Amino acid sequence: MSDKKAQRVVVIGLGRFGTSLAMELIGRGTEVLGIDSDPHTIQRLSGELTHAVVADTTDEDVLRQLGVDEFQRAVVAIGTDLEASILTTSLLVDFDIPNIWAKAISRQHGQILRRIGAHHVVLPEHEMGERVAHLVTGRMLDYIEFEDDYAMVKTIAPAEAVGLPLGESRLRAKYDVTVVGVKRPGEDFTYATAETVVHEGDVLIVAGRTPNVERVAELT
Ligand code: ADP
Repeated sequence: MSDKKAQRVVVIGLGRFGTSLAMELIGRGTEVLGIDSDPHTIQRLSGELTHAVVADTTDEDVLRQLGVDEFQRAVVAIGTDLEASILTTSLLVDFDIPNIWAKAISRQHGQILRRIGAHHVVLPEHEMGERVAHLVTGRMLDYIEFEDDYAMVKTIAPAEAVGLPLGESRLRAKYDVTVVGVKRPGEDFTYATAETVVHEGDVLIVAGRTPNVERVAELT
């Protein structure tokens, strides 16, 4: 199979999430087959995607006619209609598509999608809500949590790190975190080394276990 064919993506359900995802893929030069049961949605996107088709994706024959069973990557971005989301995902699993991402609108929905065989489940609203909660209540400028309780934060350098090379500040020994990058106001991020001297007002990217990076982000 050619590289291009392996890379192309079928995006099912072109609501807000599906549309931004499809447009981002197009912007990165990936071929996208977009499918939605709503003709107006497809009309709106027909000039934008590689192919945009009106179809009900809970119908196995329709999916086969569209060649969906030959894709290596599929995203089910149907949210509110649980039945359609679950049925569509299970058909893609039956087709043995090796990379299936599915959007869930609740944890329970996500659990079902995982159980029926979706390889990746995303809960955009929950995940973004959690992330923004960290930003609203703390001093963090940005926050990403990975699996296994590991996170990265963007935060203003705490006073105890200022004026010293990172190797001499006690951030690692005291909080068990790693400073990955440093940004001086008006400059680009640079990789942090033991010799990097932190100045007041610098922005740090700090990685480590979630409670540890949270503690560092709370320091003033
Ligand atoms: P968002 O919150 O991202 O806008 P929605 O769940 O509201 O997501 O939108 C999902 C999209 O999926 C809608 O455009 C809807 O027309 C489409 N959709 C729903 N059911 C089906 C189906 N059976 N086949 C194809 N598309 C569907």
